[in-house]
Amino acid sequence: VFQLLHNATHNVLMTRLSGTYVVDDIVRRDAQVARFVARHGLARGIMDFTGVDAIDLPMSLIVKRSQDPPLLPGMARVIVAPHDLTYGLTRVIAAHQLFTRNVEPLLVRTLDEAYRALQMTDLTFEPVQDDAPPARDRTIADVLARIDHAAGVASSAEAERQALREKMLRLLDTVLMRPPAQPLREPRIITLSDVLNAALKRARVADGDLKATCRGCRRRTSLDACRVVAGRETSYSCPRCKSVLVVLAPLPEGAPARPEDGYRLESFLVRAMVDIDCQGVHLPKTPAAQASQQSTA
Ligand SMILES: [Zn+2]
Repeated sequence: VFQLLHNATHNVLMTRLSGTYVVDDIVRRDAQVARFVARHGLARGIMDFTGVDAIDLPMSLIVKRSQDPPLLPGMARVIVAPHDLTYGLTRVIAAHQLFTRNVEPLLVRTLDEAYRALQMTDLTFEPVQDDAPPARDRTIADVLARIDHAAGVASSAEAERQALREKMLRLLDTVLMRPPAQPLREPRIITLSDVLNAALKRARVADGDLKATCRGCRRRTSLDACRVVAGRETSYSCPRCKSVLVVLAPLPEGAPARPEDGYRLESFLVRAMVDIDCQGVHLPKTPAAQASQQSTA
């Protein structure tokens, strides 16, 4: 668990961690810091591990994350790690950051030392009001992060992702400009895995990796075994009973940033009538899609 606090006088952002330090802390904290920076600009940072009594993190994740671009580039960062457990971990992190980013955070044992290092006299910290996006946005962000994490260190070059985005934009043009009645030819079908891959940082998935259980007939199927109908929307139907499982629709320009009835992925709206599993990661069905299932099935 973590709490994000800000000291306005000295412009210092403090992450106060407690309990067991887990992957979720990293994912959520990174997202919240990114939102803070987007709104208020950069700040100096304190990571306070004083309240952490256990660590449950794969070393591969720690190493990988140390190689990502810093959240607070060019800003002084101090890590407070009083216990040997967290001190050991943060020394590893610091070493990796020194190696990959050529800068390392200052590592100290007490908060007082951190305050002194940042020359802080006013020690008033206010909780950061998190303008967190609605639950569905958080869900899809979490799911993507988990799939990325589950995939481990993978290949995906930026060029490949760019090519995929361009493919999607071309498809989007085609879909939006074509008369709705005219079906798309097979190679032009945009798949759920295409849309996911465009949003994923590291992992690569295929429709065969995506599994769902039909609500109608309880059949477990992978999406590549589904009947796919591509028109204005792409819909996947159960191979046995034809119930619609997932629908992808291009979002028109000017569509709300946070659609009510599904997940926004890049420029597509994903409505899942059932939970989708991707390599053990769970994408919950969208409630609105569930409600409208009668009319689409
Ligand atoms: Zn079925």
